[in-house]
Amino acid sequence: MIKMKELPYPLDALEPYYDRQTLDIHYNTLYKGYVDNTNKTQEKLSKAREKGNFENIKCLEKDLSFFGSGVILHELFFENMGPALPTSPSTSLMEQIIKDFGSYEKFKEQFTESSKVVEASGWNLLVWVPEFKKLEILQCEKHQNLTLWGCKPLLVLDMWEHSYFLQYKTKRPEYINAFWNIVNWNEVNRRFAIAIL
Ligand code: MN
Repeated sequence: MIKMKELPYPLDALEPYYDRQTLDIHYNTLYKGYVDNTNKTQEKLSKAREKGNFENIKCLEKDLSFFGSGVILHELFFENMGPALPTSPSTSLMEQIIKDFGSYEKFKEQFTESSKVVEASGWNLLVWVPEFKKLEILQCEKHQNLTLWGCKPLLVLDMWEHSYFLQYKTKRPEYINAFWNIVNWNEVNRRFAIAIL
């Protein structure tokens, strides 16, 4: 059984950039749903093994990837946001950003533009790719499609409509611009330091 991770700040802590109602629904209803469904899927897999009945195995493996990835990405997302306080990339992360993107501004521009054009329901991610020893930006469809295997997500932005529609309606660029105010770089720096070990 997996359990919900606690939200590291109060529901209104990200206002005005990310409003209480959106975060409430996002955390308490949608994220909870992914946790519950991951647990249900794992139970079903356990029963299938007990009974030796793998009739629904294709569906169950897909569900595990979808719901489980939904859990992981939402936890990263909630943790890589925080109250609008001045945080910034660590020296080592900034050096890597400059090496791989040319400058912080170019990184931010690519991340923003890539977020804008995530198709339908998906995510935009800054990842560390150990195999390439390189930072990359990836789009992900749903929660689990399109990845570089083994990559370590460092900073993720939820581009599903449920993540912004209540507050920003169809204005995706405004939501993305607001996001930059509540990025918790301390958490991103922590993940980067572990990822490059
Ligand atoms: Mn979401």
